[in-house]
Amino acid sequence: MLQLPHQPLQVAAVPPQRAPAREDEAGPWHAEAVCRRDEAGLFFAPSKEPTAARLAREAAAKRVCGRCPVMVECREHALLQPEPYGVWGGLTAAERRVALARRRRREVELRKASATDRIAQAG
Ligand code: SF4
Repeated sequence: MLQLPHQPLQVAAVPPQRAPAREDEAGPWHAEAVCRRDEAGLFFAPSKEPTAARLAREAAAKRVCGRCPVMVECREHALLQPEPYGVWGGLTAAERRVALARRRRREVELRKASATDRIAQAG
């Protein structure tokens, strides 16, 4: 079975279904992930983590992501799944929700602009 990057050793908030069902869903980028063994537990929150500790842990995880050769692939994977927990591709779960909302808004605007163009060309 494919090993995910930063597979948590002890996980409080991460459900077991976070593992992709098939290797082609996960992509070959996993092999180059620098967080393959998250021994420091940086990428997922333990239960009842205080805010200051969470912010420090997430900042440390993002520093790891910053030197990861597959950050773009990882981020896109986490956005497409979407991965609901943890730091992926240098983004927290909250940051990914914002990124996804922006992406959806942009897609709606592009569809509207495209429809407007078609109407203008037909008229
Ligand atoms: S970008 Fe971050 S979370 Fe993704 S594989 Fe690299 S180190 Fe892991």
